[in-house]
Amino acid sequence: MGPEVRDLLHLQGKVKSVAIMGGTFDPIHYGHLVTAEAARVEYQVDKVLFVPNRQPPHKKDYPVTPAKHRYQMTVLATITNPYFYVSRIEIDRPAPSYTIDTLRSVRKVFGPEVKLYFISGADAILDILTWKDVDEVMEMCYFIAATRPGYPLEELGRRLGHLLEKYSHKVYCVEVPALAISSTDIRQRVAQNRPIKYLLPESVENYIYKYRLYHDEGNWNHHPLK
Ligand code: ATP
Ligand code: MG
Repeated sequence: MGPEVRDLLHLQGKVKSVAIMGGTFDPIHYGHLVTAEAARVEYQVDKVLFVPNRQPPHKKDYPVTPAKHRYQMTVLATITNPYFYVSRIEIDRPAPSYTIDTLRSVRKVFGPEVKLYFISGADAILDILTWKDVDEVMEMCYFIAATRPGYPLEELGRRLGHLLEKYSHKVYCVEVPALAISSTDIRQRVAQNRPIKYLLPESVENYIYKYRLYHDEGNWNHHPLK
């Protein structure tokens, strides 16, 4: 096992189920946190691992904040929840970063008995199901797809079509309050000096101002629903 799993070893042998919540978390917000908590409670998951990505290939259209900041904001945001942990597994592994590699490493750490989940917004599930290694990914874990604004579950079902039929036994759903919060919107708000209070934990808000993240009006036109 590589050094990138070091921060998971203390959980070894202590859990029956683990959920991975992957994301860019640029920045992490209440949409992510509410979704992870709803999934944990609904499926009685022992621990949720937040896994900040390296710069993912599909996000090359805007400058992703250095991993150090995204990791620290994720730690700050999850500190008050005893079931939430943050893993450096993708940040510390040499690029390119594939979810399948993360699943393999997590499986290795926790062993074959542990039930593995991958939590994501319904929009992200649609992406995942188009990956080339989708069969292997589906072998490795169960998915918990959260509805988010603009992606009702019926839409998910319609777009998945035959894929959903094939994998329906591996895809669970969780309904989260319609949170229209997105990192894109938060970045835009900061750049435009508009408030971000109550969209994300205060500690993360303070971190953003302290390190002057997102202040320069960049091309924040990447939108999650596009
Ligand atoms: P960006 O606007 O930069 O794309 P984002 O808000 O979509 O950011 P990501 O880090 O891309 O955040 O998302 C990580 C995961 O959280 C994805 O699975 C995404 O679908 C999910 N997610 C993001 N925002 C919400 C939300 N408001 N409600 C439920 N799930 C969400
Ligand atoms: Mg997104």
